[in-house]
Amino acid sequence: MTTFEDLGLNPALLEAIGARGFETPTPIQAEMIPFLLGENRDVTGLAQTGTGKTAAFGLPILQTIDTADRRTQALILAPTRELCMQVSREITDYGRKISGLRTTTVYGGAAFGPQIRDLRAGAHVVTATPGRLKDLLEKGIADLSSLRYLVLDEADQMLDMGFKDDLDAILETASAQRQTLLFSATMPPEVARIAKNYMNNPHEIVAGDKNRGVSTVDHQFFRVHASDKYSALRRLIDVQPGLYGIVFCRTRDAVKDIAHKLARDGYAADSLHGELSQVQRESVMRRFRQGNPSLLVATDVAARGLDVDSLTHVIHYDLPDEISVYNHRSGRTGRAGKSGSSLALVHMREHHKIRRIEGVLGRKIEEGRIPGGKEICEKRLMNLIDGVVAVEVNDEAIEPYLEALAVKLDGFDRDALLRKFLSVEFNRFLEEYGSAPDLNPPPPPKRSRRDAEKFSNGSGDFQRGARPSGGMVRLRINLGRRQSVLPPQIIGLVNQATHSRDIRLGRIDIGTDWTDVQVDGAMAERVESALRGFDYRGVSIRVEKGRAPVPHPRGGSSFKGKSRGGKQPSHYKGKGKVKGR
Ligand code: ADP
Ligand code: MG
Repeated sequence: MTTFEDLGLNPALLEAIGARGFETPTPIQAEMIPFLLGENRDVTGLAQTGTGKTAAFGLPILQTIDTADRRTQALILAPTRELCMQVSREITDYGRKISGLRTTTVYGGAAFGPQIRDLRAGAHVVTATPGRLKDLLEKGIADLSSLRYLVLDEADQMLDMGFKDDLDAILETASAQRQTLLFSATMPPEVARIAKNYMNNPHEIVAGDKNRGVSTVDHQFFRVHASDKYSALRRLIDVQPGLYGIVFCRTRDAVKDIAHKLARDGYAADSLHGELSQVQRESVMRRFRQGNPSLLVATDVAARGLDVDSLTHVIHYDLPDEISVYNHRSGRTGRAGKSGSSLALVHMREHHKIRRIEGVLGRKIEEGRIPGGKEICEKRLMNLIDGVVAVEVNDEAIEPYLEALAVKLDGFDRDALLRKFLSVEFNRFLEEYGSAPDLNPPPPPKRSRRDAEKFSNGSGDFQRGARPSGGMVRLRINLGRRQSVLPPQIIGLVNQATHSRDIRLGRIDIGTDWTDVQVDGAMAERVESALRGFDYRGVSIRVEKGRAPVPHPRGGSSFKGKSRGGKQPSHYKGKGKVKGR
């Protein structure tokens, strides 16, 4: 097995590595360090988050710094202030036995003054965010003319964050003599473009396969109805005592909403989103790093730069649009050799996204089942007992109270006491889950030939000869104003029950406790059977077929699948009639 000594590092660096407690180099370090010590060629390093990329470039760079020369010899660009500070801390730490080494960090959102002073004083290694560095270049403060190394760290994130123009400007001005190093967890086309335009025939080092998640992360997805997502999240949390993780949502509003609900329901949860001030952000991050709260709800952007090694779980409350984002999120667990879980809540129409992610990850994402009430209660009870068994008793401290307690507890036998003590904690779960429903929807139906045949047999009420492009059929369901439904809810219901967005709907009339919805005749049977018995917020749906088929309405008044979703199409008000409103 390769050791750090084998890689050609000098004693000062080996000592610092030893002090950090690193025993063996990670795969990217084992390849990158000797390469950088031996060659001047540009290089790209592709490896998952948490694989030790900082040391992979930081150690060899430090070894070659000439401390007698005051000019900036290495520039490291990173996407956020937090990442900059983190990289800079690591570099300073590895370099602490190198006498005369000077490092500094510049990033946006802070005063220019001190950063200008530090740069003027001279720094061998500068770590920077692209925006601020570009400003300092324009002011003539930063000088990249003697640069020997230019490192683009987390290149994919820098581009995601819109630093493309700043990067272009910096890369144009930096000394042509430099060696350019690019590190990324993924290689989307924009990153490949940077590599192509600004790097000279780069050597490619890939630790593990491109874009593959680290193998210590267990990936699972859970299918749930959109309306059950929050309950499902709670169950995933409740079934894992000791869970330490981040819940990712797509929008700031979702983050606020979920964090608020979790706090309301008694979870130690905090949130990170774009509305927080820098001071608030840092305080949230600090508390979360210390493990309390153990749950953080965050958007992708807000969670950038949050460095925590021991997360047990990453939960995708919403799936991201970009697969690289899924990869980044998941890379936050299973770090530093520990195992972790990446759990995705997927609603009925998102199955295809899982297939795409699987394709890119090159591994299967197993479908999991949302745990039932019984399972959760058992897990929590056993965890409680384990805690009781493991707890250390401080005899001295508890001694003075024992007598008084014995009086209070007089009359309870061992069994009764046990029950009472356990119930203090356990009741919450019993109450929550005593009669909790199964949240796992049935597997999505495949449209079979049988369905088609059933239809063409023309069994009864349907207009004969109604073909896929044929007339509309009216279905009456037992939901109405009393259940606060509006057309979007009805549309959502049809989408959910049928696992499809492509069913053409016509007029929707809502009464006190009924709704008539016109459905494409060709799909009516399928819609009807999907709706029947479907659970809408505790109401089991009943469906009656309309007596007479209604003629196909004129084009504009029917909803096409495309425009469905939460929003009403703009033409809805004028043409589609909602009776009784
Ligand atoms: P990346 O940049 O690839 O996401 P980092 O460089 O931030 O990863 O390293 C992730 C964590 O692993 C850090 O806490 C770092 O201190 C630790 N680490 C780096 N190299 C080693 C090693 N050889 N052995 C053990 N831990 C390491
Ligand atoms: Mg890194």
